[in-house]
Amino acid sequence: MKTVIGSLRSGNDHRSGWLAALHARCRASLRRLLPRHAGQPAGVLGLLLCLPVAAMAAEVGVDPQYGARLDRILSQTPLIDAHNDLPWELHLRYRGNLDAIDLKSDTSAVPVPSDLDPSTTGVALMTDIPRMRAGRMGGQFWSVYVPVEIKGSAAVEMALEQIDLVKRLSARYPADLEMAYTAADVLRIHKAGKIASLIGIEGGHQIDNSLAVLRDMYDLGARYMTLAHFSNTAWADSATDVPQHHGLTSFGVEIVHEMNRLGMMIDLSHVSAETMKAAVTVSEAPVIFSHSSARALVDHPRNVADDVLRLIAERDGVVMVNFYPGYVSERRRLWIAERAGEAARLGATPPFGGIYVGQPQQAKAALQAWEKAHPQPLVTVQDVADHIDHIRKIGGVDHVGLGSDFDGMEDTPVGLTGVDHYPVLLAELMRRGWTDQEIAKLAGGNVLRVMSSVERVAARLRNARPPSQASMVEQR
Ligand SMILES: [Zn+2]
Repeated sequence: MKTVIGSLRSGNDHRSGWLAALHARCRASLRRLLPRHAGQPAGVLGLLLCLPVAAMAAEVGVDPQYGARLDRILSQTPLIDAHNDLPWELHLRYRGNLDAIDLKSDTSAVPVPSDLDPSTTGVALMTDIPRMRAGRMGGQFWSVYVPVEIKGSAAVEMALEQIDLVKRLSARYPADLEMAYTAADVLRIHKAGKIASLIGIEGGHQIDNSLAVLRDMYDLGARYMTLAHFSNTAWADSATDVPQHHGLTSFGVEIVHEMNRLGMMIDLSHVSAETMKAAVTVSEAPVIFSHSSARALVDHPRNVADDVLRLIAERDGVVMVNFYPGYVSERRRLWIAERAGEAARLGATPPFGGIYVGQPQQAKAALQAWEKAHPQPLVTVQDVADHIDHIRKIGGVDHVGLGSDFDGMEDTPVGLTGVDHYPVLLAELMRRGWTDQEIAKLAGGNVLRVMSSVERVAARLRNARPPSQASMVEQR
């Protein structure tokens, strides 16, 4: 995730400048008090209202008839989210020092550090243990994220540090979290009343073109790897870069096959449509999208088109829906693009910026005036539910799941502001007619089935062939 707004550089997937983001976040909180699509409140009153409203959001409940059903379903099937960027936020905000933040407290009330790196989301954290418990979570794939600008052995080192952080996080809260490496681990930990912690590598650049490093990452606990992030790797195209390989290179195919042999899930979030199709076709095991929504509803290349949804279903994979407003609302996606254009036109970045080059205060004021005249379109829990319904309609109920992207976005849909709010989304689906069995599949049953299947394929392939000795040099 991540975008660039104004002169501030990008952060994670959809992260933008933190000042703009904080402003947007407060506006989103305010809208919870207002009718849908109401205009944006502004000024001192808005700022004063912002904090209490954010606190209220943590206490959002669901209709008791749905709550009782959810308790029953989620005591049997763990609710598993496939993508959360808390480790990266902890790295940036606290340099990975877990003494600096108490995850047993409500982190939405913790002020954002004043020396915050502009590449963070810049908003209050969306994840902590009390809210994970309130969200009835049973498992979390923590994202091991390394920006694509960091390359080579430095990317490998940072990935190792982030894996270490996830393990320290789990060890620090042993009554609530426990590391999981298999589907059976997840079920055992859930049965013991704890939340399974799993590791996903977000970006193929983190293995620095080395199958040996890939194997080491597996040994350290990584159970999925996203083949590319914002930029192409040397062997796979990203959805948000200029097409280069038109799918996977022969070394890319070798990496997919080695992941199959190891038992590491192939994650196709962030890759181009050509890479999605190539990887699904050559993979010997079902694949996943750890955090991706439906392209038929929002035409972002990061989203999954219907033809790919059908392929995923044919190969028994799972697409886990991303909650980011710019991926689940077409109106918001277009607004983000228009705002970026306006920010460039007004831009203050020397030497060849826009109208207010070298005058950051004027540029900021002008952009605020534009925002006032062009309110950010509201995005709600219903928008996310629409994507889940669409993926179900095209691919079937066995091929959809949850991949929120919490703590990797600067703004959230109204009513889905943190990890305590999964029940709100599931209750909305119940209101639309989803049965208990269908909710169980979406919440965690489907991704557990894929994980088990990947494990079975790996057990077979490990007997059938030795580790690959291919290298990038040989492939050129
Ligand atoms: Zn992402």
